[in-house]
Amino acid sequence: MSNKHTIIVVEDENSILNILEMVFKSSGYQVYTAKNGKEALMMISSYCPDLILLDLGLPDMDGLKIIQSVRSWSSIPIIVVSARNHEKDKVTALDLGADDYLTKPFGTAELLARVRTALRHASGDNDKNKAYEGTFKVGALTIDYDKRQVFKNGENVHLTQNEYKIVALLSKYSGKVLTYDFMMKQIWGPNIGSDNRILRVNMANIRRKIETQPADPAYIFTEIGVGYRMAEEKG
Ligand code: CA
Repeated sequence: MSNKHTIIVVEDENSILNILEMVFKSSGYQVYTAKNGKEALMMISSYCPDLILLDLGLPDMDGLKIIQSVRSWSSIPIIVVSARNHEKDKVTALDLGADDYLTKPFGTAELLARVRTALRHASGDNDKNKAYEGTFKVGALTIDYDKRQVFKNGENVHLTQNEYKIVALLSKYSGKVLTYDFMMKQIWGPNIGSDNRILRVNMANIRRKIETQPADPAYIFTEIGVGYRMAEEKG
């Protein structure tokens, strides 16, 4: 089970799209591509990627609209790419919640560096000190955010991609109750609906893997009717 970061590239020019796809794939990212705004919004909400690389000049809508729409439900990092070298677009994109801005033409090394930075800062928006980097330790449990893996007593517990995302999300807010609704939207996107069965099924599997006694958990607690809470990190 590889836990690659997922990137959605939104770009209407085929030649650029192909290059970007190749660059990201060869750097170990999982890549999806969209060639217009409508397709982009659909893919973003269904794949819930780790990062969005967004061309502002799209055939069917202004890329700024996509930023606005995504920011209404998620803090997924967005790096805006545009041929337009206008300060106004840059500021508007950042004001709407884009994380960074690249102006065409740009080099591969610069692009990858910006992506790594955005991923590193991702989800640290709510608490700058708790970005997904380094490790999180509680009891016998260690979360390695760089490897995107969870270890118990030093042994990899082999979580699926979504199981990992759930544990990482809870760990970021450890000690705090996260509602079912918040977690569902963060993991599966805004169209997931309110039936939290999928979350409960994943949680049952996570507990089977990380808890010594799944019925009497030591790491992830159920707040009945509300959500889940992770035990706080200790030294
Ligand atoms: Ca374009």
